[in-house]
Amino acid sequence: MGRGSDRPPADRAPPPSIMSMPHILVVEDEEHLAYGIQFNLEAEGYSVTTAGDGQAALAALATAEPPVDLVVLDLMLPGMSGYAVCEGLRARGSDVPVIMLTARTLVEDRIRGFDAGTDVYLQKPFDLEELISIVRNLLGRRGRTERAPAENGGRDAVVRFGDCVVNFDTWQATARGQPVRLTNLEMKLLRYLVEHEGMVVSRDELLKNVWGMTRAPATRTIDTFMLNLRKSFEANPSEPVHFLSVRGTGYRFVKGG
Ligand code: CA
Repeated sequence: MGRGSDRPPADRAPPPSIMSMPHILVVEDEEHLAYGIQFNLEAEGYSVTTAGDGQAALAALATAEPPVDLVVLDLMLPGMSGYAVCEGLRARGSDVPVIMLTARTLVEDRIRGFDAGTDVYLQKPFDLEELISIVRNLLGRRGRTERAPAENGGRDAVVRFGDCVVNFDTWQATARGQPVRLTNLEMKLLRYLVEHEGMVVSRDELLKNVWGMTRAPATRTIDTFMLNLRKSFEANPSEPVHFLSVRGTGYRFVKGG
């Protein structure tokens, strides 16, 4: 092994010409893999910063300019695990999309990752084309206007509740006039709740219809996402008026006055 093999790759500030491109943070301690991911994402026009461990990742997330738009996060990192990094950034209120890279395949591990705030799992070894496709999907929601009207089942694309507006065609949302950034899964969950307005939906039902999981070993995942929706939209997240808990069962969305 080379002398500097455990040295994290140096952070790279993007040149001014690509400051407007989405900024991706790649957290990976295997330098050759970090470089490969960086090279391919930059070839797609993204601005990329790398970090070799969790501490460097959290530091980069806190200070990066422009802010980080998406994180590619290895699970197995020296010191602080990818789970801890993800929990750390969610604890700060960040809703930046996170793609977790992992060799682990157990459902329990994936659930743990979702609990920690992961949006997508990508199993190692993965195809770089697949990674780029997921990145594009997670970042592209703002430009998404081609959804067929039939998919809405004739429902309005724009939904208003309280001081909040959500456009399910453009995937844009605002709360009290301020833009709200939602991950793909948060948007999907919100859509399901809105389409079942006033009805009690169970956690199992949400896991099945939003997450596409038939087994439900950890419904805490749902609770974490619901907390994020409250933080995003409720004027007072600790006293929600739209995203209501139904004790022992699940949740109920109401538009309210
Ligand atoms: Ca690793």
